[in-house]
Amino acid sequence: MTLVPRTRRTAPLARAPSQAGQSLEEEDQKRALKQEHYAYHCQACLGAMEVLKAAPPGTYVFAPGYRQRFLHAHHVEHRQNGGALGGGNLLILCEYHHRLFGDQLSRALVLAGLAEATPMKRAFPEDETGEKLQKRSGLLTRTPLSAAPFEARLYFTEEHAAAWRLNGT
Ligand SMILES: [Zn+2]
Repeated sequence: MTLVPRTRRTAPLARAPSQAGQSLEEEDQKRALKQEHYAYHCQACLGAMEVLKAAPPGTYVFAPGYRQRFLHAHHVEHRQNGGALGGGNLLILCEYHHRLFGDQLSRALVLAGLAEATPMKRAFPEDETGEKLQKRSGLLTRTPLSAAPFEARLYFTEEHAAAWRLNGT
């Protein structure tokens, strides 16, 4: 049983955050980003390498169910500091990258990265052997960081990037 009505396959990622029930929408957007936008991959892993390199066939991380356990929806601007709800304030990061640079990535840095993003395709596996691939268009951002690892590369879907831009500066 699900708590979230699924009238649309993909929840809109940017929405006025004023209605009651916003936490359900927030959960729906987190799910949509993880599942539909990034197929349970981390935006930083996909920014750094191809899908099959991040999650090689024949390893446990090839199975989405395992990857899901290490995947976090990170609020770039923390909710307690007035950060917005919804996809325009979220990054999908694995546990490793969340710890590595989650707190270094400010809203301004992510938006600056998006302003200079370049088109990039990633090939997602369509079958259980990883032989059939589907190339999906997205964007690559490169964000300089003041501390190690000194750069964050993130893969964005177009719709996720649009939600960030819509949320403003
Ligand atoms: Zn990662």
